[in-house]
Amino acid sequence: MSETTNAFEMAQRQFDHVAELLNLDPQVREILRWPMREFHFRIPVRMDDGTIRVFEGFRVQHNDARGPNKGGLRFHPAETFDTVRALATWMTWKCAVADIPLGGGKGGVVVDPATLSDGEKERLVRGYVNVMWRNIGPRQDIPAPDVGTTPQMMGWMMDEYSRLVGQYTPGVITGKPLGGGGSAGRTEATGYGVIFNVREAMKHLGLDPKQCTAAIQGFGNVAQFASIGFIEILGGKVLCVSCWDREDRKSYTFFKADGIDPHFLKSITDQYGTIDKAKAREAGYTIEDGDCWIEKDVDVLIPAALEGQVTGETVKRISPKVKILAEAANGPTTPEADEFLKNSSIFVIPDFLCNSGGVTVSYFEQVQNDMNFYWTKEEVLDKLDTKMTQAFHGVLDMSLEHKAYMRDAAYIVAIARVVKAMQLRGWV
Ligand code: GLU
Repeated sequence: MSETTNAFEMAQRQFDHVAELLNLDPQVREILRWPMREFHFRIPVRMDDGTIRVFEGFRVQHNDARGPNKGGLRFHPAETFDTVRALATWMTWKCAVADIPLGGGKGGVVVDPATLSDGEKERLVRGYVNVMWRNIGPRQDIPAPDVGTTPQMMGWMMDEYSRLVGQYTPGVITGKPLGGGGSAGRTEATGYGVIFNVREAMKHLGLDPKQCTAAIQGFGNVAQFASIGFIEILGGKVLCVSCWDREDRKSYTFFKADGIDPHFLKSITDQYGTIDKAKAREAGYTIEDGDCWIEKDVDVLIPAALEGQVTGETVKRISPKVKILAEAANGPTTPEADEFLKNSSIFVIPDFLCNSGGVTVSYFEQVQNDMNFYWTKEEVLDKLDTKMTQAFHGVLDMSLEHKAYMRDAAYIVAIARVVKAMQLRGWV
């Protein structure tokens, strides 16, 4: 099998593997291997200098058997149709494994948001809604933030949609700012959800969290709250995080043997996730190559950046000390690396289970929007913890019962739920 880092090929290979294990009906397979609807369009935007720039945009709706399509909107210069297809597919499995009544979707725009002014960003996201508004909505498809997009952008998109349909419609989008229809705890949700999963995995493996260390790849929203949670919720130590340096156009690992301080690092990180190297060095951090995080002698590895990071090649650099690989990113591990991990003693918390905290609180946000009644952060995080713990044990039980690899077990749980909904609706 040749190594693939094409995310959609990865998503299809993972699905095919489990479809085979389950002996899934060929017609059901044919439906689930592909997105149900795909949109590919151009968004003309008036730039600050008066010129018009045309951006390429996507929205993919993979499956809505269990409820409206749900998933983020990613702004990235390397965005492709296939990445969006993969991410939309994983959203279907993510919502199903977390057992929230939503389907899978994802959007993308080929752009580096750091090159845009605030006004240009606003016109671009409003333009996105202008193209897509007939095909999104609280009962159709609900976007949210992802890599390169922010709560403020979600607020503008909600406003544009409300204007077009002629009524205030907060439930069209989640991850909105607090005070603008957003939910308390949404910013923390993905990172903390990762940590609730890690906590349950540690209980299962008989590890004492206070004695555990972690290495984290990335320092965006998910990595920031995963590191805060690892330290403040579990009582463990995080030895390093990594980040993409916009100026040097490469990534670096920021290491501290007695543990990093994520609050300090956050305070010296710009809005696009680049950590100030000089200030970090001054505070005693060692700055190493961006891919060093994977070879650290830690108990837990948390890739929390982009897809395709743990490959057939890099997986061999993982230290024998590592006990848990908690996939906070979407699709960080290639099928080739999976083959290696399956035969190792590393316990894998698969991506669409591990990072399902974000979409779970997105779902809570929509519920609160519908009720027009808002919960406190404690209530939200409590409900999140309950959901994550249930989801984790649902998958763990499946894995133990069928002696299945955790990723396969997560797929089995998710696919069964989606297929059941398709059957109940008479699709198959
Ligand atoms: N973009 C996030 C994810 O990949 C959140 C999606 C959402 O909240 O709808 O899970």
